[in-house]
Amino acid sequence: MSKKLYFYYGTMASAKTLRLLTTAYNFEENNIKIMVMKPSQDTRDGDGVIKSRVGLVRKCTMIQPDADLFLAVEHYNTQMLSRFSKLEWVLVDEAQFLSEKQVDQLAKVVDVLGISVMCYGLRTDFQSHLFPGSKRLLELADEINEVKASCKCGRKTNINARIDKNGHVITAGDQVMVGGDDLYRPLCRKCWYELINKKEKDREISVKD
Ligand SMILES: [Zn+2]
Repeated sequence: MSKKLYFYYGTMASAKTLRLLTTAYNFEENNIKIMVMKPSQDTRDGDGVIKSRVGLVRKCTMIQPDADLFLAVEHYNTQMLSRFSKLEWVLVDEAQFLSEKQVDQLAKVVDVLGISVMCYGLRTDFQSHLFPGSKRLLELADEINEVKASCKCGRKTNINARIDKNGHVITAGDQVMVGGDDLYRPLCRKCWYELINKKEKDREISVKD
């Protein structure tokens, strides 16, 4: 089987992490050597751990923002595994936080080391713009798949709306703000625009008052 760089993208709460963890489990059941990693920007689950919403947990390697992922995988492959067992898969969670350079390094892992890489992550931020890591993955990946989830209205979710504690949509701020259900709500584009329009209308009314 030819080695590939895969990108699975979806909104928050689309069970991406669960998929990664079950994939990792299945590989290990079949004695396939894997390396699992995650960018250190995702601090929700604590250091060195990946956790899914349904409670599955496993250890992982944390990726620092300036880490060379080609060297990291090469090192793991030669130092951590025996001469007779070679790494076959690298699984990356929260891949939107990778730098563009790190995605290039993962492509090199596939092409030079002959190890397949599967990345899971968000496509866009709370303003519906691409994250740098996701942009580079969309440019370089051999296979791109969407992990779909449904909005409350039944349409497909494609927006990670940022919300305040009153449930009002937030449309300005830093691209990266780590949080869960308290801070984000996956929505379809239509529902997202409706929330933004409602917020603007409410503001006009309060200005007139
Ligand atoms: Zn909707």
